[in-house]
Amino acid sequence: MEGKIIKGIAGFYYVLYGGDIYECRAKGLFRRNDIKPLVGDNAEFEILDAAGKNGNIINILPRKNELLRPAAANIDIILTVLSFFKPKPQLCMLDKYLISIKLQGFDAAILWNKNDLSPDIPDYVKAYKRAGYENIVISASDGYGMEDLRAFLKGKTTLFAGPSGVGKSSITNRLFPMADMQTGEISRKIERGKHTTRHSQVFIVDKTTCIFDTPGFTSVSLEGLEKESLREYYPEFTKPGKKCRFALCSHISEPGCAVKQALDDNTVSRLRYDNYVKIYNELANKRRY
Ligand code: GDP
Ligand code: ZN
Repeated sequence: MEGKIIKGIAGFYYVLYGGDIYECRAKGLFRRNDIKPLVGDNAEFEILDAAGKNGNIINILPRKNELLRPAAANIDIILTVLSFFKPKPQLCMLDKYLISIKLQGFDAAILWNKNDLSPDIPDYVKAYKRAGYENIVISASDGYGMEDLRAFLKGKTTLFAGPSGVGKSSITNRLFPMADMQTGEISRKIERGKHTTRHSQVFIVDKTTCIFDTPGFTSVSLEGLEKESLREYYPEFTKPGKKCRFALCSHISEPGCAVKQALDDNTVSRLRYDNYVKIYNELANKRRY
């Protein structure tokens, strides 16, 4: 049998197969190779007890990619969830997060929630659009933009990540009013592993659409990033027809900088530029051993 691992807890893996969830061990898998099963893995498993829905994972199929924190495999895109208010977005943190996602080789998009608290879409959304990110604006409260979100999710495996309070649970509840039924069974089975307050949830929408909802922000690491490479993460700085006097301009203090000039005519967002300078200085001051 071939199923998808939708949860792993306390040595058990929950494998979705044919609409049922099988509680599996991974006996033998560790001895043969040292692959640790991850949520999102496609796994070959054998059914040990069809009525009790127990099984044994015998093989993990090749992964498209794997994310370290949270540990997950076969992710198409990471959707960073933020809200316009309550809490207000921390945009420098968002930049760092987007950079760290790219550094790990994943694509990122941004989901802005609580549009009902902000009748005018803030200018910074435009700035992230200009930077090449897909932005979706919704309200989990009144349903604004939910069709855009559904269209975005279709056919992908998406990982929702964002600080607590931005509305991730509200969003998945609105998307999948039936989801509680699907996850109910897992919740009951993992009752014994209750030490964590909120588990990540997986929503299987159809054969090709899958959503991972992870609690909290995943960790942000800019390790391995040199300050000289930071500008590659700000593609909107490289406007066609605009050239800095120096080819390797850091856009910080050099004369004839086209990016700083673009700040004056508003074609580069001040906010994104300020974040860039802040992160640049942090990278420059990083102690090296
Ligand atoms: P999570 O921690 O990211 O899962 O966030 P929750 O879904 O628990 O939501 C946190 C709070 O924000 C709750 O009080 C929700 O009712 C509220 N909330 C969620 N979505 C919206 C929204 O679109 N508009 C408004 N005004 N409040 C929202
Ligand atoms: Zn420059």
